Amino acid sequence: MRIDLHSHSTRSDGTQSPTQVVRAAAAAGLDVVALTDHDTAAGWEEAARTAAEVGIDFVPGIEVSTLHEGRSVHLLAYWPDAGDDALEEVLAAIRRARQRRLPVIVERLVAHGIDVTVEDVARAAPGTMALGRPHVADALAEAGVVADRSEGMAHYLQRGRPGWVPRTGVDLVEALRVVAAAGGVSVVAHPWGRSARDVLDHDLFARLAAEGLAGVEVDHEDHSSRARRELRAIAADLGLAVTGSSDHHGAGKVGHALGCNTTAPEEFQRLRAAARRLRRVDQRLE
Ligand code: AMP
Ligand code: FE
Ligand code: FE
Ligand code: ZN
Repeated sequence: MRIDLHSHSTRSDGTQSPTQVVRAAAAAGLDVVALTDHDTAAGWEEAARTAAEVGIDFVPGIEVSTLHEGRSVHLLAYWPDAGDDALEEVLAAIRRARQRRLPVIVERLVAHGIDVTVEDVARAAPGTMALGRPHVADALAEAGVVADRSEGMAHYLQRGRPGWVPRTGVDLVEALRVVAAAGGVSVVAHPWGRSARDVLDHDLFARLAAEGLAGVEVDHEDHSSRARRELRAIAADLGLAVTGSSDHHGAGKVGHALGCNTTAPEEFQRLRAAARRLRRVDQRLE
Protein backbone atom coordinates (compact mmCIF):
# COMPACT_ATOMS: atom_id res chain seq x y z
CA MET A 1 0.00 0.00 0.00
CA ARG A 2 1.70 3.21 -1.19
CA ILE A 3 0.21 6.46 0.07
CA ASP A 4 1.26 9.99 -0.94
CA LEU A 5 -0.69 12.75 0.80
CA HIS A 6 0.69 15.96 -0.73
CA SER A 7 0.64 17.09 -4.36
CA HIS A 8 -0.11 20.16 -6.47
CA SER A 9 -1.77 20.78 -9.83
CA THR A 10 -2.14 23.78 -12.14
CA ARG A 11 -4.99 24.93 -9.86
CA SER A 12 -2.18 26.28 -7.67
CA ASP A 13 1.52 26.06 -8.56
CA GLY A 14 1.97 22.59 -10.00
CA THR A 15 2.58 22.15 -13.72
CA GLN A 16 0.18 19.23 -14.35
CA SER A 17 -3.62 19.29 -14.48
CA PRO A 18 -5.42 17.38 -11.70
CA THR A 19 -6.02 14.58 -14.20
CA GLN A 20 -2.34 14.42 -15.10
CA VAL A 21 -1.33 14.37 -11.43
CA VAL A 22 -3.64 11.44 -10.67
CA ARG A 23 -2.58 9.52 -13.78
CA ALA A 24 1.05 10.09 -12.84
CA ALA A 25 0.28 8.85 -9.32
CA ALA A 26 -1.17 5.61 -10.69
CA ALA A 27 1.81 5.22 -13.03
CA ALA A 28 4.14 5.70 -10.05
CA GLY A 29 2.47 2.75 -8.36
CA LEU A 30 0.57 4.72 -5.71
CA ASP A 31 -2.63 3.28 -4.21
CA VAL A 32 -3.69 6.53 -2.53
CA VAL A 33 -2.98 10.11 -3.59
CA ALA A 34 -4.07 13.42 -2.09
CA LEU A 35 -4.33 16.57 -4.19
CA THR A 36 -3.48 19.46 -1.87
CA ASP A 37 -3.39 22.61 -3.95
CA HIS A 38 -2.57 25.84 -2.14
CA ASP A 39 -5.70 27.57 -0.80
CA THR A 40 -8.22 25.94 -3.14
CA ALA A 41 -10.35 22.84 -3.63
CA ALA A 42 -10.83 23.64 -7.31
CA GLY A 43 -9.02 20.52 -8.53
CA TRP A 44 -10.87 17.95 -6.42
CA GLU A 45 -13.70 17.06 -8.78
CA GLU A 46 -11.46 16.43 -11.75
CA ALA A 47 -8.95 14.49 -9.63
CA ALA A 48 -11.65 12.34 -8.03
CA ARG A 49 -13.11 11.49 -11.45
CA THR A 50 -9.71 10.47 -12.81
CA ALA A 51 -8.90 8.45 -9.68
CA ALA A 52 -12.12 6.47 -10.14
CA GLU A 53 -11.17 5.84 -13.78
CA VAL A 54 -7.67 4.61 -13.03
CA GLY A 55 -8.68 2.74 -9.89
CA ILE A 56 -6.75 4.45 -7.10
CA ASP A 57 -8.03 6.17 -3.94
CA PHE A 58 -8.27 9.94 -3.92
CA VAL A 59 -8.00 12.07 -0.79
CA PRO A 60 -9.27 15.65 -1.11
CA GLY A 61 -6.93 18.12 0.57
CA ILE A 62 -6.00 21.80 0.70
CA GLU A 63 -2.63 23.25 1.72
CA VAL A 64 -3.70 26.36 3.59
CA SER A 65 -1.20 29.27 3.61
CA THR A 66 -1.16 30.46 7.22
CA LEU A 67 1.08 32.69 9.32
CA HIS A 68 2.48 32.28 12.80
CA GLU A 69 4.51 35.14 14.30
CA GLY A 70 5.18 36.50 10.84
CA ARG A 71 6.40 33.14 9.51
CA SER A 72 4.69 31.19 6.75
CA VAL A 73 3.28 27.87 7.98
CA HIS A 74 1.54 25.52 5.54
CA LEU A 75 -1.35 23.59 7.02
CA LEU A 76 -2.61 20.52 5.15
CA ALA A 77 -6.36 20.03 5.60
CA TYR A 78 -7.76 16.63 4.57
CA TRP A 79 -11.43 15.89 3.80
CA PRO A 80 -12.80 19.30 4.85
CA ASP A 81 -16.24 20.27 3.61
CA ALA A 82 -15.23 22.67 0.82
CA GLY A 83 -18.71 24.18 0.89
CA ASP A 84 -18.33 25.26 4.52
CA ASP A 85 -18.92 29.04 4.66
CA ALA A 86 -16.19 29.91 7.16
CA LEU A 87 -13.58 27.79 5.36
CA GLU A 88 -14.57 29.23 2.00
CA GLU A 89 -14.23 32.75 3.40
CA VAL A 90 -10.77 32.08 4.85
CA LEU A 91 -9.54 30.61 1.55
CA ALA A 92 -11.06 33.48 -0.46
CA ALA A 93 -9.34 35.99 1.84
CA ILE A 94 -5.97 34.28 1.33
CA ARG A 95 -6.47 34.27 -2.44
CA ARG A 96 -7.42 37.98 -2.41
CA ALA A 97 -4.26 38.72 -0.42
CA ARG A 98 -2.28 36.82 -3.08
CA GLN A 99 -3.87 38.97 -5.83
CA ARG A 100 -2.95 42.14 -3.93
CA ARG A 101 0.63 40.97 -3.35
CA LEU A 102 1.39 40.24 -7.02
CA PRO A 103 1.60 43.88 -8.28
CA VAL A 104 3.77 44.77 -5.28
CA ILE A 105 6.22 41.97 -6.15
CA VAL A 106 6.27 43.08 -9.79
CA GLU A 107 6.83 46.71 -8.75
CA ARG A 108 9.84 45.73 -6.64
CA LEU A 109 11.33 43.71 -9.49
CA VAL A 110 10.80 46.58 -11.93
CA ALA A 111 12.48 48.96 -9.46
CA HIS A 112 15.36 46.48 -9.47
CA GLY A 113 15.63 46.87 -13.25
CA ILE A 114 13.78 43.75 -14.33
CA ASP A 115 11.35 44.02 -17.19
CA VAL A 116 8.28 42.07 -16.04
CA THR A 117 4.56 42.84 -15.84
CA VAL A 118 1.54 41.48 -13.99
CA GLU A 119 0.28 40.28 -17.38
CA ASP A 120 3.48 38.29 -17.96
CA VAL A 121 2.88 36.53 -14.65
CA ALA A 122 -0.78 35.88 -15.43
CA ARG A 123 0.28 34.33 -18.75
CA ALA A 124 2.67 32.03 -16.86
CA ALA A 125 -0.13 30.90 -14.54
CA PRO A 126 -3.05 29.60 -16.60
CA GLY A 127 -5.82 28.07 -14.51
CA THR A 128 -4.40 28.89 -11.09
CA MET A 129 -6.51 29.97 -8.14
CA ALA A 130 -3.49 30.74 -5.95
CA LEU A 131 -1.24 33.18 -7.76
CA GLY A 132 2.15 33.32 -6.10
CA ARG A 133 5.89 33.58 -6.25
CA PRO A 134 6.35 30.38 -8.27
CA HIS A 135 4.39 31.95 -11.11
CA VAL A 136 6.50 35.12 -10.96
CA ALA A 137 9.58 32.88 -11.11
CA ASP A 138 8.10 31.11 -14.15
CA ALA A 139 7.54 34.48 -15.85
CA LEU A 140 11.18 35.41 -15.17
CA ALA A 141 12.26 32.10 -16.69
CA GLU A 142 10.00 32.69 -19.69
CA ALA A 143 11.68 36.11 -20.17
CA GLY A 144 15.12 34.52 -19.97
CA VAL A 145 16.04 36.39 -16.77
CA VAL A 146 16.65 33.09 -14.97
CA ALA A 147 17.02 29.48 -16.10
CA ASP A 148 14.05 28.06 -14.23
CA ARG A 149 11.59 28.44 -11.37
CA SER A 150 13.97 27.48 -8.60
CA GLU A 151 16.61 29.95 -9.78
CA GLY A 152 13.91 32.63 -9.94
CA MET A 153 12.83 31.82 -6.39
CA ALA A 154 16.37 31.75 -5.04
CA HIS A 155 17.68 34.89 -6.76
CA TYR A 156 14.68 37.18 -6.74
CA LEU A 157 11.79 36.02 -4.59
CA GLN A 158 12.96 34.46 -1.36
CA ARG A 159 13.18 36.41 1.89
CA GLY A 160 15.95 38.98 1.58
CA ARG A 161 15.93 38.99 -2.24
CA PRO A 162 14.84 42.04 -4.35
CA GLY A 163 11.28 40.84 -5.08
CA TRP A 164 10.52 39.53 -1.60
CA VAL A 165 7.11 40.59 -0.33
CA PRO A 166 5.71 38.80 2.72
CA ARG A 167 2.32 37.20 2.43
CA THR A 168 -0.49 38.45 4.61
CA GLY A 169 -3.08 35.94 5.60
CA VAL A 170 -4.83 33.85 8.16
CA ASP A 171 -3.34 33.02 11.54
CA LEU A 172 -2.26 29.38 11.99
CA VAL A 173 -4.39 28.62 15.06
CA GLU A 174 -7.40 30.37 13.53
CA ALA A 175 -6.99 28.25 10.36
CA LEU A 176 -6.74 25.09 12.44
CA ARG A 177 -10.05 25.90 14.13
CA VAL A 178 -11.80 26.76 10.89
CA VAL A 179 -10.58 23.54 9.22
CA ALA A 180 -11.74 21.43 12.18
CA ALA A 181 -15.14 23.13 12.20
CA ALA A 182 -15.42 22.22 8.50
CA GLY A 183 -14.74 18.55 9.32
CA GLY A 184 -11.16 18.65 8.09
CA VAL A 185 -8.16 16.87 9.62
CA SER A 186 -5.06 19.07 9.93
CA VAL A 187 -1.41 18.12 9.41
CA VAL A 188 1.44 20.66 9.50
CA ALA A 189 3.25 20.50 6.14
CA HIS A 190 7.09 20.36 6.06
CA PRO A 191 7.35 22.12 9.47
CA TRP A 192 11.14 22.39 9.38
CA GLY A 193 11.41 22.97 5.66
CA ARG A 194 12.14 26.46 4.45
CA SER A 195 10.64 29.16 6.57
CA ALA A 196 9.13 28.27 9.91
CA ARG A 197 11.71 26.11 11.64
CA ASP A 198 12.43 28.64 14.38
CA VAL A 199 8.78 29.06 15.39
CA LEU A 200 7.52 25.47 15.11
CA ASP A 201 9.02 24.01 18.28
CA HIS A 202 7.75 21.39 20.74
CA ASP A 203 5.76 23.99 22.70
CA LEU A 204 3.91 25.24 19.65
CA PHE A 205 3.19 21.68 18.47
CA ALA A 206 1.78 20.95 21.94
CA ARG A 207 -0.47 23.98 21.66
CA LEU A 208 -1.59 22.97 18.17
CA ALA A 209 -2.26 19.40 19.35
CA ALA A 210 -4.51 20.83 22.07
CA GLU A 211 -6.33 22.77 19.34
CA GLY A 212 -6.96 19.57 17.39
CA LEU A 213 -3.92 19.13 15.15
CA ALA A 214 -3.89 15.50 13.96
CA GLY A 215 -0.48 15.04 12.41
CA VAL A 216 2.96 16.20 11.32
CA GLU A 217 4.47 15.78 7.86
CA VAL A 218 7.81 14.29 8.87
CA ASP A 219 9.10 12.56 5.72
CA HIS A 220 9.53 15.42 3.25
CA GLU A 221 12.47 16.17 0.97
CA ASP A 222 13.15 19.48 2.73
CA HIS A 223 13.87 17.64 6.00
CA SER A 224 17.29 16.21 6.88
CA SER A 225 17.37 12.76 8.48
CA ARG A 226 18.12 14.46 11.80
CA ALA A 227 15.10 16.77 11.43
CA ARG A 228 12.95 13.74 10.64
CA ARG A 229 14.20 11.95 13.74
CA GLU A 230 13.48 14.93 15.98
CA LEU A 231 10.06 15.59 14.46
CA ARG A 232 9.13 11.90 14.81
CA ALA A 233 9.99 12.12 18.51
CA ILE A 234 7.83 15.23 18.96
CA ALA A 235 4.91 13.54 17.16
CA ALA A 236 5.24 10.41 19.31
CA ASP A 237 5.39 12.51 22.47
CA LEU A 238 2.24 14.44 21.56
CA GLY A 239 0.30 11.54 20.06
CA LEU A 240 0.29 13.03 16.57
CA ALA A 241 0.18 10.96 13.39
CA VAL A 242 3.29 10.99 11.17
CA THR A 243 2.96 11.44 7.43
CA GLY A 244 5.39 11.27 4.54
CA SER A 245 4.70 12.77 1.12
CA SER A 246 6.27 14.06 -2.05
CA ASP A 247 4.91 17.62 -2.28
CA HIS A 248 4.94 16.95 -6.03
CA HIS A 249 4.62 20.07 -8.24
CA GLY A 250 5.18 18.42 -11.64
CA ALA A 251 8.12 20.16 -13.29
CA GLY A 252 7.75 23.05 -10.82
CA LYS A 253 9.91 21.53 -8.09
CA VAL A 254 12.79 19.17 -8.74
CA GLY A 255 13.38 16.21 -6.43
CA HIS A 256 9.73 15.88 -5.42
CA ALA A 257 8.53 13.03 -7.64
CA LEU A 258 5.26 11.37 -6.63
CA GLY A 259 5.90 8.63 -4.09
CA CYS A 260 9.42 9.82 -3.17
CA ASN A 261 8.13 9.82 0.42
CA THR A 262 5.08 7.88 1.56
CA THR A 263 2.78 7.56 4.57
CA ALA A 264 2.48 4.30 6.51
CA PRO A 265 -0.99 2.71 6.18
CA GLU A 266 -1.54 2.73 9.96
CA GLU A 267 -0.77 6.46 10.14
CA PHE A 268 -3.19 7.08 7.28
CA GLN A 269 -5.83 5.11 9.16
CA ARG A 270 -5.34 7.38 12.17
CA LEU A 271 -6.09 10.42 10.02
CA ARG A 272 -9.13 8.70 8.54
CA ALA A 273 -10.40 7.83 12.02
CA ALA A 274 -9.93 11.46 13.09
CA ALA A 275 -11.98 12.59 10.09
CA ARG A 276 -14.73 10.13 10.94
CA ARG A 277 -14.83 11.37 14.55
CA LEU A 278 -15.22 14.97 13.34
CA ARG A 279 -18.08 13.99 11.05
CA ARG A 280 -19.82 12.18 13.88
CA VAL A 281 -19.57 15.26 16.09
CA ASP A 282 -21.00 17.27 13.20
CA GLN A 283 -23.94 14.96 12.80
CA ARG A 284 -24.67 15.00 16.53
CA LEU A 285 -24.86 18.79 16.39
CA GLU A 286 -27.29 18.81 13.49
P1 AMP B 1 4.01 31.82 -2.13
O1 AMP B 1 2.94 31.03 -1.45
O2 AMP B 1 3.51 32.61 -3.28
O3 AMP B 1 4.83 32.65 -1.16
O4 AMP B 1 5.02 30.75 -2.77
C1 AMP B 1 5.45 29.65 -2.02
C2 AMP B 1 5.61 28.44 -2.93
O5 AMP B 1 6.80 28.55 -3.64
C3 AMP B 1 5.70 27.14 -2.17
O6 AMP B 1 4.46 26.51 -2.23
C4 AMP B 1 6.69 26.31 -2.92
O7 AMP B 1 6.04 25.28 -3.63
C5 AMP B 1 7.31 27.24 -3.90
N1 AMP B 1 8.77 27.30 -3.78
C6 AMP B 1 9.47 27.83 -2.77
N2 AMP B 1 10.78 27.72 -3.02
C7 AMP B 1 10.92 27.09 -4.20
C8 AMP B 1 12.01 26.66 -5.00
N3 AMP B 1 13.28 26.88 -4.64
N4 AMP B 1 11.74 26.04 -6.18
C9 AMP B 1 10.48 25.82 -6.56
N5 AMP B 1 9.41 26.19 -5.86
C10 AMP B 1 9.62 26.81 -4.69
FE1 FE C 1 3.76 25.13 -3.86
FE1 FE D 1 4.08 23.80 1.25
ZN1 ZN E 1 2.90 21.77 -1.04
